[in-house]
Amino acid sequence: MTSLPRPVLPPEELRPESRLIHSGIQRTQFGENTEALFLTQSFVYDTAEQSEARFAGKDDGYIYSRFSNPTTAMFEARIAAVEGAEACRATATGMAAVTSSLLCFLKAGDHVLSAAELFGSCRYVIEELLPRFGIQTTLVKGTDLSEWEKNVRPNTKAFFLESPTNPTLDILDIAAIAKLSKKAGAKLIVDNVFATPMLQSPLQLGADIVVYSATKHIDGQGRCLGGAILSSQQFVMDHLHTFMRQTGPSISPFNAWVLLKGMETLQIRIERAQENAGKLADFLAAEKKITRVLYPARKDHPQHALAMKQMRGGSTLLSFEVEGGKAAAFRFANALRLIRISNNLGDVKSLITHPATTTHQRFTPEARAQMGIGDGLLRVSAGLEHADDLIDDLKRGLKAV
Ligand SMILES: *Cc1c(COP(=O)(O)O)cnc(C)c1O
Repeated sequence: MTSLPRPVLPPEELRPESRLIHSGIQRTQFGENTEALFLTQSFVYDTAEQSEARFAGKDDGYIYSRFSNPTTAMFEARIAAVEGAEACRATATGMAAVTSSLLCFLKAGDHVLSAAELFGSCRYVIEELLPRFGIQTTLVKGTDLSEWEKNVRPNTKAFFLESPTNPTLDILDIAAIAKLSKKAGAKLIVDNVFATPMLQSPLQLGADIVVYSATKHIDGQGRCLGGAILSSQQFVMDHLHTFMRQTGPSISPFNAWVLLKGMETLQIRIERAQENAGKLADFLAAEKKITRVLYPARKDHPQHALAMKQMRGGSTLLSFEVEGGKAAAFRFANALRLIRISNNLGDVKSLITHPATTTHQRFTPEARAQMGIGDGLLRVSAGLEHADDLIDDLKRGLKAV
C-alpha cells in the first residue's frame, strides 16, 4: 500500500466556505475522495495489550460507536471547524443535543434561567423535565435584559436561549446575555438552529455552548435527524464525553455521513433560501390582507438593528399574520400548490406551518398571545425554488383569504 494522502489544510488557513467542504476529512489508505462511511458498531484490536491500552486512554483509536466512530468524528470536526469551536459531539437529534448539553453538567439543586420563547420541545425540557430531577428553572422574556438580570440566583448554573426565536423571529442580545451569564458564573447555551453557523456565531458573542438540530439546514434536504453540541475541549472532557459514552444519545454514522455531505452545500443553500425569504417578506409586507410581517433583515422588524449587529443576514424563515384569524390562515395554507404544509424547516422545499395549531398547540391561547403567536400567524421556511414561483403561490394563498 502506498502512503496516506496528504492531510487537508488546517481550518485556520481556510475560509468557512472551504471548511464546509474539506475540514475534518480523515482519509483511509485507499485515498477515497468522498468521506468514508464506517457502518460498524465496534473496532478490533491487534492484541489484548492494545485493547487494554485503548480502554485506559493510552491509545487513541476507536472502541465502540456509541462514543466514537470515524465518520461521526469527521462530522464533528467539520462542524467544529466551521463554528470555530474547540470541540463537538454529534447526537441522534437536535433534542438529544439540547437535553445532553444540560443534563451532562447540572445536578439537583442547580438553577437554570431560560428565555420563554423556545422551540416547543426545548421548553418542555426546561419547564417540565429538569424540575422533575430537582433542577429549578425560571423562564423570562428573552428580549428583556432586566428580566435576565433580576432572576439570577446564587445557584444559577446555566442560561439557555435561542435567537432568532421560533416562530416570531425575536432577536435576543446574545453578547449582553453572555455578560450576565459570565457574571453569574453560569454557562450560556445557545440553540443556533434558526441562524445556522453561516449567519451567527454565538461563541464569538460570548456563549459557552452552541447546540444544533442538524436535522434542519445542515442536512437541508429532509432526510436525517441529527444534532451537535459545540463547546470548549474542557467542557467535553469534564462533562459531555462521559455523559454521551454512558447514556448513549449518539448519532448513527450513516446519518453523520449524510450530514457531512449536507454541510458541503450549506453556504450556498443558506444564501439562496435567505434571499428567497427576504423577497417573500417584502412581497407580503405590501399586501393589505397581511397585518404583520416578521423578518429580521427588514427595517420594520422590532430588533432590526440588533439582528444586523449579531447576525450576518436575515434568516431563511419568515412569519406573517393573515387578517381573519385561524380560518383565514387555514384558507391561505390550503390554497398553496408549491409551498407544502409541514412543521419542518431548513429544507430545500419551501414549507409553511400554522404555529398556533401545531408546534404551539399545547399552550393556552393566553400563553400563545404572550409569545406573540396569534391565530392568524403563519411561518414559512423558504426553500430554494425560484422566488417568483413562490410569490405566485403566495398570491394563491392571498386570494383564498
Ligand atoms: C427542530 C429544532 C430542535 C429539535 O431538533 P430535532 O432534530 O428535531 O430533535 C431544537 N431547536 C430548534 C430551534 C429547532 O428548530
